[in-house]
Amino acid sequence: MTAQVQSLPSTFGLGVPVSVSPTRLNRHTTTTSTITGPTRGGQVLNINTLPHDNLSPTFKGFGLGLPSPPPELEDDDDAFPKIRSESVDNLIRSGILDAAIASAANEPDAEAAFFVADLGQIYRQHKRWQQCLPNVTPFYAVKANPDRVVLRLLAALGTGFDCASMNEINMVAELGVTPNRVIFANPCKPTSFVKHAARMGVDMTTFDNEDELYKISRAHPRAKLILRILTDDSKSLCRLGLKFGASLVAVPTLLAKAVELGLNVVGVSFHVGSGCYDSDAFADAIARAKKAFVMGQEAGYQFSLLDVGGGFESEHFEESATVLAKALETHFGDFTGQIIAEPGRFYVAEAFTLATNIIARRGPERSVLEQQEIDEEDDNDNPRVMYYLNDGIYSSFNCILFDHQIVSPFCLTVGKVLVDGSSTSLSAAQAPPLVTSSLWGPTCDSIDCVMARVKLPGGLQVGDWLGFRKMGAYTICAASSFNGFDRTKVVYTVGEELVAIESLLVPATAL
Ligand SMILES: *Cc1c(COP(=O)(O)O)cnc(C)c1O
Repeated sequence: MTAQVQSLPSTFGLGVPVSVSPTRLNRHTTTTSTITGPTRGGQVLNINTLPHDNLSPTFKGFGLGLPSPPPELEDDDDAFPKIRSESVDNLIRSGILDAAIASAANEPDAEAAFFVADLGQIYRQHKRWQQCLPNVTPFYAVKANPDRVVLRLLAALGTGFDCASMNEINMVAELGVTPNRVIFANPCKPTSFVKHAARMGVDMTTFDNEDELYKISRAHPRAKLILRILTDDSKSLCRLGLKFGASLVAVPTLLAKAVELGLNVVGVSFHVGSGCYDSDAFADAIARAKKAFVMGQEAGYQFSLLDVGGGFESEHFEESATVLAKALETHFGDFTGQIIAEPGRFYVAEAFTLATNIIARRGPERSVLEQQEIDEEDDNDNPRVMYYLNDGIYSSFNCILFDHQIVSPFCLTVGKVLVDGSSTSLSAAQAPPLVTSSLWGPTCDSIDCVMARVKLPGGLQVGDWLGFRKMGAYTICAASSFNGFDRTKVVYTVGEELVAIESLLVPATAL
């Protein structure tokens, strides 16, 4: 059996004969494959003798309630996935090597793209939240990434959940999360979903219009209602105010209607917009929420809940948290009720790294690109090479369309040689010149363009791998299987937080 030659990163000894067990990741191979062939520089690489200890994963379950599945269930979609403990980058490398082995064994979908999810990163985000906003209880917005392992970890960490639909409510209920840790935070719900929430004991729900009040008074009269007000969302990636939120002028009438219907309004919520890049938006929103609280008092309510919504970005989290905490001190300093938030993106965005395979290429011969000194002037920024990836706009990269993201790739392999991310060990063959290129998804639609213009090494070829970091929020959750392409699967690791997470996840009663 011959196959693509894999040179390995310097940590494994470049060009040294190595072997690797083909049973890593989720592949279901029972025999050890041998991959030999001439490497770059004429050496023969045999990945059959790679030191096993370096790469074989230590499988870790989550402790009580989260057992590793029995072997016969390993490939069963319903089984709880294995949780590994290697670093993200090592798992990506393992995945790439596995793909080479699977390809050599002619396995279907051998080169499939994959995510590596770092649960340790989610844990660190939670610690950050507790550190900066100790008095604000996070209710994770499930829509950002409803991955069941993520939900399970957050449930164990003790967060609440912001659910927007019947299925999201069911998902967290199945984890054993009690209904008082759930807010049904969709102001415009189907009547049947409101009835479902009532059946499930989920009482907290938002509203922003009169019709919703009539609906709730019929379908869930004992609900604890939270008035969603409109705030300035102009400094955010996704403006939610176009669709939701009652303006302050409408609040007194709405509250009067709630009183008339005998409904229990318990507080106020807002959302500054998803991906909020102006921390001051939180200060302005808190000031408006205070006004709504006063209107509540005038209507005869004693509000006990303030929900500051989502919108938190990891990049400016400390800044936003400081602004928010200060505004809370100013306007809600003597508030004795509960303060909650609905962060989504903040928890998951950075935890997921995507590895994609270049499945096709259109452009000049690589040797031409590699030899040619590309004159920046001549290059004119017009893409000279088109690369086709096995994930695109219809799948994980839907975030480009729906979430207004700009993604940026890094090379995992160049010329089929693993790039060691921690060093600058690119050989002459892999090194620049960088060539203006474009990246496309695998479907037959031309809207499926991941990047119209990006500088990439001219040595990239079909079979090489590109990585994308920070792909955890609003990606997998909205992916389709258009054109018959599967959604990208996830490999999980606790990364550097093994001990911390394990101790938190035992016992299961913590759920
Ligand atoms: C989407 C959404 C969130 C989460 O927003 P992020 O920007 O991801 O934090 C929270 N609350 C509601 C009501 C939402 O619609």
